[in-house]
Amino acid sequence: MVEGKGTLYLCATPIGNLSDMTPRAVEMLKAADLIAAEDTRHTRQLLTHFDIHGPMISYHEHNKERQGPILIEKMLNGTNIALVSDAGFPGIADPGEALAKEAIAAGITVVPVPGANAALTGLIGSGLPCSPFFFGGFLPKSKKNRREKLAEWKHITCTIVLYEAPHRIVDVLKDILNAWGDRPMVLARELTKIHEEFFRGTVTTALNFLAENPPRGEFVVVMGGSTDIQEPEKLMDPLEKVRMLMAQGTDKKSALGAVAKEYKIPKRELYNRLLKEEGEVK
Ligand code: SAM
Repeated sequence: MVEGKGTLYLCATPIGNLSDMTPRAVEMLKAADLIAAEDTRHTRQLLTHFDIHGPMISYHEHNKERQGPILIEKMLNGTNIALVSDAGFPGIADPGEALAKEAIAAGITVVPVPGANAALTGLIGSGLPCSPFFFGGFLPKSKKNRREKLAEWKHITCTIVLYEAPHRIVDVLKDILNAWGDRPMVLARELTKIHEEFFRGTVTTALNFLAENPPRGEFVVVMGGSTDIQEPEKLMDPLEKVRMLMAQGTDKKSALGAVAKEYKIPKRELYNRLLKEEGEVK
């Protein structure tokens, strides 16, 4: 704790099963001067269950820019704030990340209070390699941006963990199949809840499964990594490279010099080829 300043406690809450609330999180939420929550009505139910009755303030995606500085000001003036999201770790695919960043920049002590998290719970139950893994959160909602993101992540070789809403999951899996081809994957549904379920298969069998069992509830998607061996980058033709550099604004002499050096060929030879191409030497 920094002298005179309050502390920001990032408190994890259950992702379904209330027994996953940790005694430490209860303690911190009871001790906090103020509880900042993504959805105060939702969190009030959770807090009441654990006999926590402190004052609350809302902090969510749509008010974080306005609310962040207000919370920072309060902490600078000595208020201890506990931040919770709707479920799991504040900061993982929800706005907690922004407040932690602002608090650190303001010299406020940030204390994480861990507990349940959907990504890690799905990952350890998936049976796919747990380390290394890549956490992608939610893919973009727009088809175009989603396809661009999938193209960017196509060659990731480790396990990939994603979040997805039930009404989008079929579309997302179809895009994944198109972009990455078929590969092992696991659908982890309703984790820690009564209807917890793991479907372990491939993208194609998962799509068949979802056609027969319309998606309901919350999903973590755990994808096997790429097994593609990427072809080594093909070297561009040296003259093509010279022309590319010139088109980018490099003068002819420097472009010839740079390419001759890179391709380990005499500059004069390259120059003659260029002249020939330009039709200056027959
Ligand atoms: N902060 C949370 C965490 O630490 O896991 C995640 C918040 S994010 C807004 C919500 C997404 O997490 C859901 O759309 C779903 O993909 C995933 N999720 C949350 N609870 C889940 C559960 N019980 N089972 C499966 N996925 C869950």
